[in-house]
Amino acid sequence: MVSQDLLLIIRGIFNAITPETKIEDSVALLSSVFSPTLIVAALDIIDDNLVVQHVTPWGHVEYGIDGTSYAIFLDMPTAELLPYSCSCITFVSSLLTVPNFIMCKHTLATKIASRMNLCRTSPTDVDALASLITRQLTIVPP
Ligand SMILES: [Zn+2]
Repeated sequence: MVSQDLLLIIRGIFNAITPETKIEDSVALLSSVFSPTLIVAALDIIDDNLVVQHVTPWGHVEYGIDGTSYAIFLDMPTAELLPYSCSCITFVSSLLTVPNFIMCKHTLATKIASRMNLCRTSPTDVDALASLITRQLTIVPP
């Protein structure tokens, strides 16, 4: 179970990151709670321009990492215990085994990219959204 105090600190850090924040300042903030290895892995995903924001005409947003079928959820309002989720095996296994685990590199990259407006935006109609969700829900053996 994640400490609610830790979640409040992380929310504060993310709220302090804006499109105007210098990346070194963002890294300094993130370093107070996340490992350097996780931060570098997340920044690599952002540098490779892989964070995609699928936006529907009615304003719904789904996030993804290009080249994967991971379903990434940020700031889920009904998830009081942990508002972030990813369908990658690291997230699922770490959630069960690592104390105070909060984010994998995909969720961290997506959260940073969304705060800094560094996501690639992909206009998504209803058919593309259905295809995206179908890919995300397809079970792929490890
Ligand atoms: Zn992940």
